[in-house]
Amino acid sequence: KYKGPSFEMIRGTLKKKLFPSVTPYYKTPLLIHEGKMQWLFDHNGKRYLDMFGGIVTVSVGHCHPKVISALEEQMNNLWHTTSIYMHPMIYEYADALTSKLPENLKVVYFVNSGSEATDLAILLARLYSKNYDIISLRNSYHGMSFGAMGVTALSTWKHPSPAGPGIHHAMNPDVYRGIWGGSHCRDSPSQTDRHCSCESGQCDASVKYFDQVEEILKYSIPKGKVAGFIAESIQGVGGTVQFPKEYLKKVYNLIRSNGGVCIADEVQTGFGRTGDHFWGFEMHGVQPDIVTMAKGIGNGFPLAAVVTTPEIAQSLGQALHFNTFGGNPLASAVGLAVLNVMEEENTQLNSKNVGTYLIDKLQKLRKYECVGDIRGKGLMIGVEMVNNKETREPLSREYFQAIWENCKDMGLLLGAGGLHGNVFRIKPPMCVNNNDINFTVEVFETAIESFVKGK
Ligand code: PMP
Repeated sequence: KYKGPSFEMIRGTLKKKLFPSVTPYYKTPLLIHEGKMQWLFDHNGKRYLDMFGGIVTVSVGHCHPKVISALEEQMNNLWHTTSIYMHPMIYEYADALTSKLPENLKVVYFVNSGSEATDLAILLARLYSKNYDIISLRNSYHGMSFGAMGVTALSTWKHPSPAGPGIHHAMNPDVYRGIWGGSHCRDSPSQTDRHCSCESGQCDASVKYFDQVEEILKYSIPKGKVAGFIAESIQGVGGTVQFPKEYLKKVYNLIRSNGGVCIADEVQTGFGRTGDHFWGFEMHGVQPDIVTMAKGIGNGFPLAAVVTTPEIAQSLGQALHFNTFGGNPLASAVGLAVLNVMEEENTQLNSKNVGTYLIDKLQKLRKYECVGDIRGKGLMIGVEMVNNKETREPLSREYFQAIWENCKDMGLLLGAGGLHGNVFRIKPPMCVNNNDINFTVEVFETAIESFVKGK
């Protein structure tokens, strides 16, 4: 039972004491005080199914007992040293984490957030390549620190201040909303694997968006002198946007042949969330030179990492580089426990099975005029809402909000995203089951239905 300060007191104080830019979801924000696996509880004891997992962060479940006990054990032993001393936890964790990556990606630098990981990845790309220019994709989100805000390309997240110089944004290979949406990508019979449907990789979208990266190299960057390319494996904040098959593979080759390295942002797509693979980049058949990871890596504990090759890591050795908390004993203990739980409970397989069940069940919502697109992979799903199926004009904010709030009132928490704020994002802790999916789709449909009737 909740015994803390009243809802009104907390709301009033937070309004006064926190930056106004820190705005909670919902007209009447939720006061959450307890979590258990896929469930959250508010101050009235009402239970919510958390289908957004603290923005794709709670990977194995709120307050997972095995993660708690690993944390407790470490807390009673040693909280903090920095990397000036060795400690057994970081050794064990670094070994376990890097063993999850393919081939030469064997060296890790621990940090505390995805933004820090992005900044470090950019720095590494520049140091190693001895070049300066970085290419990222429009509609991407890589964080809010100086460099990360620079590579992020959503106007809603851009502030009128210089951020991350030397950055170019390539056109986003979005097969639904982009100007060259490949029709055969869109109409694939296999909804769970849609972006991979055009086996040749020669669809309009794949070729034309690739040409745009070539154009940037041709016009905006000194010949053969790109430092790197960064992309999410499925764009998260941008609204679960998948790329056409072969696009990333071709871009990686192009970047490398122009002197640069390739960075995969696995902050949302990593750790088995996409089901078929442990890392999102694997579904594109590519191997990055640098991988950034955060969020699900710590199941809610502030922990993030950059993994790269020994050769690239070497380039950071020309001056001192330091991070106070990165990989400290508590963070390492949690990270290791999370990896163990993922293995023991086979959360990746659950993502695949339950995610496929979800995306199949969601198909029945296509009958509604306001449901424009349903996409994603594993437990990384997006439902794009529109005013009109034909024109794809985004559903207005007010209508989107009505459906969203209604779901919340019925006990279902969904995320929102996309440049137009019109994409429902379903990215729950990977412990959800088919009953949770039945509940999700039923509530979601009821909310859409009552919106349609009341319109
Ligand atoms: N990359 C991606 C793909 C993200 O989604 C986010 C956070 N939403 C970040 C980087 C930045 O992570 P953080 O908020 O931990 O700095």
